[in-house]
Amino acid sequence: MGMWLEGKPLADRIREEVGRDVARIKQAGGTAPGLVAVIVGDNPASQSYVRMKEKACQALGLWSEVRRLPEATTMVELKIQIDDLNAADHVDGILIQLPLPSPLNSHEVISWLRPDKDVDGFHPHSLGLLMENRPGLRPCTPTGIVELIKSTGVRIEGCGVVIIGRSMIVGKPLAAMITNENGTVTLCHSKTRDLAQVAARADILIAAMGKPGFVGPEFVKDGAVVIDVGSNAVSDPAVVRAIFGADIKREKDIQEKSYTWVGDVRPEVIEKAGWLTPSPGGVGPLTIAFLMKSTLEAFRLRRG
Ligand code: NAP
Repeated sequence: MGMWLEGKPLADRIREEVGRDVARIKQAGGTAPGLVAVIVGDNPASQSYVRMKEKACQALGLWSEVRRLPEATTMVELKIQIDDLNAADHVDGILIQLPLPSPLNSHEVISWLRPDKDVDGFHPHSLGLLMENRPGLRPCTPTGIVELIKSTGVRIEGCGVVIIGRSMIVGKPLAAMITNENGTVTLCHSKTRDLAQVAARADILIAAMGKPGFVGPEFVKDGAVVIDVGSNAVSDPAVVRAIFGADIKREKDIQEKSYTWVGDVRPEVIEKAGWLTPSPGGVGPLTIAFLMKSTLEAFRLRRG
C-alpha cells in the first residue's frame, strides 16, 4: 500500500516563499511584481482558473489584472492588447488563458508575447531555453510535477520515467525537464503500442492524457511513483461509479454543479504504487504556486 502525495504542502511552501519575497521588494520601496491574465470568451472552466490565479496574486501581495475580452475578439485586436501589455513597465507577467476560442491561433498569440514576460513558459524562446537546459521561464505544471516527485525523496537521476501524453502544455516540456534531471524518459501517446506494458516498466509514471480512470494497476510497477496530472470534468454518474464505486461526495458534486473532477488514474493504483497523487489535490495546487513564482522570476529577470 503506497502513500498519497498531496500537492498542497509543497504549494503552500512555494507560496510562502513568494509572499515573503514580494513583501521584501515592497518594504525596500519597490513596486509589486504584476501579472495580467488575458481571457477571451466565457468558457466557465477558464473563468474559474483565472479567478483562482487572481485570488492567489492577491493573497501573496502581487499586483494583478484580468483583461476579459469578448468571444468575437479578432487576432488583430488581441495582438493590440498584447502590444500594450508587452510595453507596460509595471506588467511583469502575461498569461494567455488557454484554450482560445477558434479561429484564434494560440501558437501565434503566444509567440506575440515578449519572451521575458511569458510566465507560462510556452513561448518558443522559453521552450528553446528549456531544451538547452539554460535558465529561463518554465511551464508551471511540469515544474510542479518535477518538484512534487523530488519532494518524495526519490531521485529522478537514473530512473525510468514514462510520461503518457505529449502535449506542449504538459508532456513535451516535462520530458525535457526530466531529461535535464538525468531521468530516462519514454514519452507515450495515443499511437504507443502495448501502453500498459511500457508503463509498467516505469520507476516514475506520469499520466497526462485527459482520460478519466484510464490508468489501472496493470500500468504500474510495484512501488512506483505515480503522478496523476489528469483533471477531467465528468458529468455522468455511471462513469464515476465505474471508477470509484459508490462515492457520495462526487455524486453530490454532479447533482449540485453538474460535474465532478476525476483524474486519469484509478484509485486502486494506491495499493501497488509507492506514491500516488490524488486528483484533485495533487498537481493542481502546484501549477498556481509555480505561476506565482514564475511572475516573481520574470520581475527579477527584467527589473533586476
Ligand atoms: P491534450 O492536449 O489533450 O493531450 C493529451 C495527450 O494524451 C495526447 O498526447 C494524446 O496522444 C494522449 N492520449 C490520449 N488518449 C490516449 C490513449 N488512449 N493512450 C495514450 N495516449 C493518449 O491534454 P493536456 O492539455 O496535456 O492535458 C492532459 C490532462 O492533464 C487533462 O486532463 C488536463 O485537464 C490535465 N491538466 C492538468 C493541469 C493541472 O494543473 N492539474 C494542467 C494541464 C493539464 P496524441 O498526441 O497521440 O493525441
